[in-house]
Amino acid sequence: MIIVLKPKCTHDQLQKFSSDLEERFPVKVNAWFGTQSTVLGLIGDTSAVDIDYVAAQDIVESVKRVQEPYKKANRKFHPDNTVITLPGGQKIGDGGITLIAGPCSVESEAQICEVAGRVKQAGAQVLRGGAFKPRTSPYAFQGLKAEGLELLREARKKTGLPIVTEIMSADHLPLFKDVDIIQVGARNMQNFELLKELGKTDKPILLKRGLSSTIEELLMSAEYIMAGGNEKVILCERGIRTYETFTRNTLDISAVPILKKLSHLPVIVDPSHASGISWLVEPLAMAAVAAGADGLIIEVHNDPARALSDGAQSLTPDQFDQVAKRVFQIGKAFGRKVD
Ligand code: PEP
Ligand code: MN
Repeated sequence: MIIVLKPKCTHDQLQKFSSDLEERFPVKVNAWFGTQSTVLGLIGDTSAVDIDYVAAQDIVESVKRVQEPYKKANRKFHPDNTVITLPGGQKIGDGGITLIAGPCSVESEAQICEVAGRVKQAGAQVLRGGAFKPRTSPYAFQGLKAEGLELLREARKKTGLPIVTEIMSADHLPLFKDVDIIQVGARNMQNFELLKELGKTDKPILLKRGLSSTIEELLMSAEYIMAGGNEKVILCERGIRTYETFTRNTLDISAVPILKKLSHLPVIVDPSHASGISWLVEPLAMAAVAAGADGLIIEVHNDPARALSDGAQSLTPDQFDQVAKRVFQIGKAFGRKVD
């Protein structure tokens, strides 16, 4: 719900009105100050707000229900693209193409360091690697956990690449203190308590779309993090469940321009989990960049046949090198910032 205040409205009146709304309704009020007028945005359950009550207030010029239930993630209130700057100076969402690459799971020091070095050479700006793994089977490899995080730090030290890794529980947050980007996996996209805790941190959050979540639900999850005060959210389309069985998931390529239109947040695509098949990664990666994605997250393993998770969709470093070249060519052809 959007409320436009009359130009004569004083600061005291605004304060009083905001607290009144927050007391009466389950909403949080945010104010944007323009040169002509002040606009209030209500976050929360606006369906419970009595629009006639709002319209009847002296200082209200107009009130409108807006369709989207998300505000902070909404491009309407933030027309400029959000650009996220990582500690090493790498930028996500600035018109360039950010390549995030690395193994599904961190398995050993030799593995993560070798892959990190190779993906960096190929043009990757961020290293991925799972330490806490959400596996369908409790008997499958669950990740090296704290040791995996330590190995990621080691690989970062050797290569200078910032690291992104998945968190599965807010209880683990102390372990993620010096992780550069915290990933929320598809299975946790609607773990609202986790999202709220991440909203209290100042880390960039890579938020993956849930397996069966709508675009609006993804944006509402981003809203949870942002409503807590952390506006550094990167959205990730990683394929959704459909009736198709050839691929592991179906890449919803239309989600890319739709998310870019609805939100100012950077959008990246994960062609590895979207397809589940290594030879499909290249065409899907190229399609994603052509559709306007700000970056890609791609699984790379030094020995995919022996990977402890997701080997079938993992590229070798040589294959990644080729994909990176093709992706940068596509980017150049579309006038993107590519060095
Ligand atoms: C992953 O990135 O390894 C992963 C588990 O991804 P998703 O949450 O998209 O399945
Ligand atoms: Mn994986």
